[in-house]
Amino acid sequence: MATETKKYKVVYDRENCIGAGACVLAYAERFAMNSKDDKADLLGGVKKGSNFELEFTLRELEEFKSAAQVCPVAVIKIFDVETGKEIL
Ligand code: SF4
Repeated sequence: MATETKKYKVVYDRENCIGAGACVLAYAERFAMNSKDDKADLLGGVKKGSNFELEFTLRELEEFKSAAQVCPVAVIKIFDVETGKEIL
């Protein structure tokens, strides 16, 4: 599979977000604070069970990785869609 078409997936456990806002600073195009409950929303994310998920390509990988890295409660996880392996 060509690198540009390789798919990744972010899985966001919104229930356990503590509203620290670090993800918003890391990737404001995809994370925004919701003033109703002071948790972050994954923009474009689709609700799957208690998580929100979004598939994306290499173009956004570094940004999503930084958001995952700065989250103090590690509720943002990144997977390789093809292999199902957790990247971060
Ligand atoms: S960094 Fe983590 S805890 Fe903070 S708002 Fe984002 S998802 Fe929630």
